[in-house]
Amino acid sequence: MNECPESDAQQNGSDRVVSYFKERILKGELKVGDRVMPERELAQHLDVGRPLLREVMKSLVMLGFLNVRQGSGTYIAKADIRVLSDFFTFCLSQEQDVLEDVMQARMAIECQAIRLACERANESDLARIGQWLGTLIDTLTDPEAGGRADFMFHQSIVAASHSRALTTLYGAMAELLHRSHVQRRATTYRNPEIVRVLVDAHREVFLSIVAKDPDQADRRLRDHFAIGDELRRRSLIETYRGAPAKQTN
Ligand SMILES: [Zn+2]
Repeated sequence: MNECPESDAQQNGSDRVVSYFKERILKGELKVGDRVMPERELAQHLDVGRPLLREVMKSLVMLGFLNVRQGSGTYIAKADIRVLSDFFTFCLSQEQDVLEDVMQARMAIECQAIRLACERANESDLARIGQWLGTLIDTLTDPEAGGRADFMFHQSIVAASHSRALTTLYGAMAELLHRSHVQRRATTYRNPEIVRVLVDAHREVFLSIVAKDPDQADRRLRDHFAIGDELRRRSLIETYRGAPAKQTN
């Protein structure tokens, strides 16, 4: 077999090495646990120098795509979602207004996930979502615990979609989303109007899933995002005007 489809002149050596693994894994020619061909052969096959190959493979090992067994060789590893999450968090953390951008991606994923959850959620999925709703109600005065409960409520909905791809994508954003929930909660938890709407919105979303009504669930989830934005905006305006935050009784 003398195929070398990655021989584009513009593609540099390290790209060729990465593409080699990516394409073969995607095609199923290399699977988890398969041994990678010896360094000398692979370098020849990809037309790259051995030092470069070694360097790129070291990076792939660090990223968790390959693992080295001493005295035995290099193997295809089972990809670990935490790597993706770290990578994603790292890349996005370098962007400005990253949390707002993540919110947009989050909406896209959650709205599709909730539709699937309406069809696929089983008893234990519903119990889990309901449980986080309960925790969310119990932690309204605690931004840290409340933010976490809010995040977990939404994550449980995505998990109830039983879509591996959606869950994986959502998992990659988990750290940023968690942070964003806590941050938003800290700016809004003293506002009784926001707190009331927050509880109602989550309850409505949950009940739509229980009712297995995807259109309603999708609509209520979008309302939840939109109302949250609007109230947060008003709360920020109040803060900047120096108006005292409204107190609960
Ligand atoms: Zn929420």
